[in-house]
Amino acid sequence: MGTSATMRLPEWARTERRGKPRETKRVLRSVGLATVCEEARCPNIGLCFSKPSAAFIIMGPNCTRNCRFCAVTHALPEPLKNDEPQRVGLAASALGLRYVVITSVTRDDLPDGGAEHFARTVRAARRRVPAAKVEVLTPDFRGSPESVAVVVGARPDVFNHNVETVPRLYPAVRPQADYRRSLSVLHRAASLDPSLRIKSGLMLGLGERIEEVLQVMMDLREAGCEFLTLGQYLRPSRAHAPVERYIDPAEFDDLRHRGLAMGFRQVLSGPLVRSSKDAEEMYNRGHPET
Ligand code: SF4
Repeated sequence: MGTSATMRLPEWARTERRGKPRETKRVLRSVGLATVCEEARCPNIGLCFSKPSAAFIIMGPNCTRNCRFCAVTHALPEPLKNDEPQRVGLAASALGLRYVVITSVTRDDLPDGGAEHFARTVRAARRRVPAAKVEVLTPDFRGSPESVAVVVGARPDVFNHNVETVPRLYPAVRPQADYRRSLSVLHRAASLDPSLRIKSGLMLGLGERIEEVLQVMMDLREAGCEFLTLGQYLRPSRAHAPVERYIDPAEFDDLRHRGLAMGFRQVLSGPLVRSSKDAEEMYNRGHPET
């Protein structure tokens, strides 16, 4: 099995990098915000920025953790900006968003992990774009049930927390995280509000085995997870964990079918699937009553 240093990037990873970020970037700069799409150097940025949805990254740009697959900067974090929630609301309104994703770096330096700041941002988005759906993509808050409850209390529509990979690979690629703790965060959110949609995702190609992926999918169902994203890991730079394998699109398709058979409402599974890509479509398809 080769690594990304020696493997050619498959055709799908090059052809879909088209598309131009338009108005979105201008509005984000004008209110001093960043999207996770830019911070994580996502290959879908052009396509996503042409839709009425955006994934804001708050409490950044520096993360207190250092996951080996992630392009976000690992450095001492800055103090929280009190007006950031309002600026997210303003940007959501200026962009006419129908779907707002709010995510963050991990802030292990804050007593509540930033839960209250998250909740304030959800409420600010609700005030400015009341018709929009709001999805939070949270860190694990070091497993704090109180912090999860604070975020759930702000009434987002979707609570997303990515397990990212299989437990065996955590020490190598996600050393400051804990698989069981991530599951407990999802389970806690699910048990607090039955109307809340629970979502998670994995990147494939880091060296996981298929039976390990299937076990994680079953664990996620047990934790109350209904929406699942599975995408190909792409190495942000040579300093990051190598790609161990490019997964065939047919294998992604097979995993989607298996996920639906396990009871997930929606499974997005494909090479360029990312946690926040097509989030609005996923929500609407998995939630036809709204
Ligand atoms: S905790 Fe999240 S933002 Fe921080 S390095 Fe890991 S994946 Fe990146």
